This record gives sequence, C-alpha cells and structure tokens, in this order.
Amino acid sequence: MIEHAEHSHPEECCGLLVGQIQGDRIAAIEVYPMANQWNLETGPEFEAAISAPKPATLPSRERRYTIDPRAMLEVQKLARDRGLTIVGVYHSHPEHPAIPSEYDRELAWADYVYPIVSVRRGYPSAVRVWQLDDDQQFVELELCEDLP
Ligand SMILES: [Zn+2]
Repeated sequence: MIEHAEHSHPEECCGLLVGQIQGDRIAAIEVYPMANQWNLETGPEFEAAISAPKPATLPSRERRYTIDPRAMLEVQKLARDRGLTIVGVYHSHPEHPAIPSEYDRELAWADYVYPIVSVRRGYPSAVRVWQLDDDQQFVELELCEDLP
C-alpha cells in the first residue's frame, strides 16, 4: 500500500485488501493494487461544473480515485475461490492528511475498512485506517501488525 502510494504520487493510488473477518478483527492477507480509473468526464462532478456560471476547478486523479467495478468483481471471485473476501479499499492522499474526505464518506461501504496513506512531497508519512459506524461517520480503527 505504502509503496503503491509512493509510486503513484502525485496522483492518488487505490487498491483492494483481501482477507477474512475474524470476530471483531479484520485480517488483511493480500493487497491488490488497482489502477486509478478516475476520469473527469465521467465523474459525477463534471455535469455540475460545466453548467456552473463560472468555470469550476474539477478534481483530477490527484484528488480522486475510482476502481473499475468489473476489476473489483474479478478480485472478489479470486478471493471467494479461496474462502477469502474483499475486506477493504485503500487509497492515498497526496499532500493531504490520512483523514477521509466528505467525498470518501459518501462513497464508502459499511462492509469495508478504508486505509488512507498520506504522501508528503513524494514520501509516505502516515497510514490510518477508517470504517463507517452505524451513523455513516468514519471512526479510526487500531492497526495491528501481528498475525493471528
Ligand atoms: Zn480520499
């Protein structure tokens, strides 16, 4: 995750975590780096921006990411064949803290954890992991590096 964030800088990277849910622990066993497929002209903000009275600055891959849903389905199939599942979606925040944005919150699914890697001037500086609570707000999870 950290290497992917560093190599993708100044664009956001994104990828999937495959693993298992074990009680209140979520074990991420494999990392699948995915292409950032964010495309301005298919993004939800494009229509709003072009119809605005003053030209708006549209977010680029430096501020947004999208994972191709078909590619995600492929990873889920590979995982399921081995008794695993997608447990999380990670991405990076170039020149921003490892805190989810409102946009991240709107797109988040309750089933997944969301690690965010902050990259400052090309160097990864922090990794924080988030999950939605019952009120659709992000709460930070404790990151354990030991294996079960
Ligand atoms: Zn984000």
